[in-house]
Parts: sequence; structure tokens; C-alpha cells
Amino acid sequence: MEQQPSSSRKGKRKAQERDLKSYFSPFGSSSTNPSTHGSEVGNAIIEEEEVVETHLEDTNTIGQQPGSNENDQGTITEFNPDYIISDPGLRIPIEQFSPNIRDEIRRAFMERGPTQPSSHVFPRGEDKRRFRKEWFEKYNWLEYSLVNGKAYCFCCYLFRRVGVDDDKFGYEAFKKEGFRQWKNAYLALPKHVGGPNSAHNRSRAAFDDFDNQRASVKEKIVVHTKEAEKKYETRVDTSLAIVSYIALQGEPFRGHDESETSLNKGNFLEFLDWYKLRNEEVRQAFEFACPKNAKMTSGTIQKELAECCAQAVTKVIKEEMSGCLFSILVDESRDISVKEQMAIIVRSSASGA
Ligand SMILES: [Zn+2]
Repeated sequence: MEQQPSSSRKGKRKAQERDLKSYFSPFGSSSTNPSTHGSEVGNAIIEEEEVVETHLEDTNTIGQQPGSNENDQGTITEFNPDYIISDPGLRIPIEQFSPNIRDEIRRAFMERGPTQPSSHVFPRGEDKRRFRKEWFEKYNWLEYSLVNGKAYCFCCYLFRRVGVDDDKFGYEAFKKEGFRQWKNAYLALPKHVGGPNSAHNRSRAAFDDFDNQRASVKEKIVVHTKEAEKKYETRVDTSLAIVSYIALQGEPFRGHDESETSLNKGNFLEFLDWYKLRNEEVRQAFEFACPKNAKMTSGTIQKELAECCAQAVTKVIKEEMSGCLFSILVDESRDISVKEQMAIIVRSSASGA
């Protein structure tokens, strides 16, 4: 009955229908082909037949072995956050995801972490024993399914090699079918972990490698971002310094020919080249890994920087005048090349004078 919500969700989303069908099928195959690994864990599987049949009514996937072949129709090729199911008893086997999206699925599961409902009141099993929450502390890979009351291995779910480790102890119990012979847990849990080269420890190593790789990439991006930010600041600083100097001298910024081969690219670019030759940091900032849309040398940027200088100067003048009387004298005349020239004279007197 607990599976009802899943079934109705399946009806709503047609795109997911096939995938959900196949994801229920491991239960189907377990009921028709009970585990053959022959350990004491195998017996626990039959107890779930009732639940299994509920699934089968919906799915008709008896006898299908999903995930055993990547080319099966059940292979999922598109990532969907709905596949990141917390309850290990309801998850789609990792092999059923196409290799193209498997890493993305793994990453999403690792972000979420193993499902360890330690505040849950664990029911007694057939053997009158219960799951003990202390096991979560001892085995950080251990997961518990609230849906079917079984234990699973998070690492083996994500990284167990299909076809290679299938016959090893614990594959069926902790990855595929779930474990719930609590009486034997004190033996079964360490046995699942096994020696340094055990199937579980190989999954564990793959898990750690994947996690480290994720962390180092993240770190590289942060370092790169910081470096890029520093170079950007250097470029802005340099351009601003040149703009303020040229503006102060009242010289023109641009040249007639600003191309790379030009003999005189105008004051701004020539000054910048001069600066780059003498300052390594400035040269690095402008020449190495400098994004073309953030060079801080375009005409628009020069105008914006000059505008900023003008605002700064205006601010200082206003502060200096601070409410005193002033007069403005504006005059214009044509120069010899018939261009209008305007002169502005502002006169102010210090307060009290
Ligand atoms: Zn494991």
C-alpha cells in the first residue's frame, strides 16, 4: 500500500512511465529468481514477496533484468531530479542510467548523502531483532529504507561494478535487495566491508576518488576566479590612472589609427603599451587569459572612466564651495578652423571673504 503514491505519480508523468516500470523490476526479478549467492542473507529476500507483487501488477516486468544491458529500452538518458530518490528501497539501479548522465546522478546523490533516519523507531524483524541506529555511526555508508525496512550500502549503490562484483558477498544483500537479518548484522556488516581489496572497499575507493575530484575542481574554480578578479582590478586601475593623467593634461585620448600595426595608436593606447613594458603585473593582467570583453581599453570604457573622474572632481569642488557665493562667466567664439570654443570661468570666494 505504501507504494501507491509512487504508482499514481507514474500515471501523471508519461515520460517517466517506462523508467519507473523498470525501476520496480529488481523486486520482480528477485521474487522470480531468488538470490543464488547462498549466504544466510539470501533467505530474507523471500519475505518481501507481498510487496513485490504489488509492484508487478503495475509494471508487468516479470523476468526482465534491467540494468544488465546498457542498451535496454529501460536505460535512462536524461537527468531528472525526480530520480534522486532518498529511500534506498525505491531507487532506480545506477546501471539503468546511461553512462552519459551517471556521474551527474552520482553527484546529486552524494550531495544528498546516505539516508540514515536515526530517529526512526525501527520495527522488530522476523528474528525479533531490530535495526540499531548505532550502526549508522559505525558504518557511514549504511542506509535504511523506511519503505521496506531493509538496510543498504550507499557506496555500493553508487559505485559497484556491474557484472564484476555481482557474485561477491553482500552485493545482493546491500546493494540490490536490501538486508534485514538483524540477528546476523554483527557478522554481516563487517563481512560486507571485507578486506582492503573487497568489492565494498573498491566501491568505497571509487566513491572517495569521485568526491575528491569534485572538491578539487571546485577549489580550482575558486582559485581561478580570485586570480581573474585580481587581474580585472589591475586592468581597471591602470586604465583609470591613464585616463586621469590624460584628462588632467587636457590631451586627446584616441588616435586616428588604433590598429595593432599603427605607428601611433593615440595617447591612451600608447601610454598603456609604455606602462605594460615597464610593469610585469600590468602586462600579465592585459595579456594573459584576458577576456576580450573585459580589457578595459575600449573607447566606451575610456569615456566612462573620464566621466567618473569628472564626477569625482565635481564632488570635490562642491565640497570646497560648501554653500558660498559664486559666479560663472561663459563665453564662446569660433577658432581659426571655424569650430566653436567655449570657455567657462567659475569664481567663488571663500566663506566670509
Ligand atoms: Zn558496500
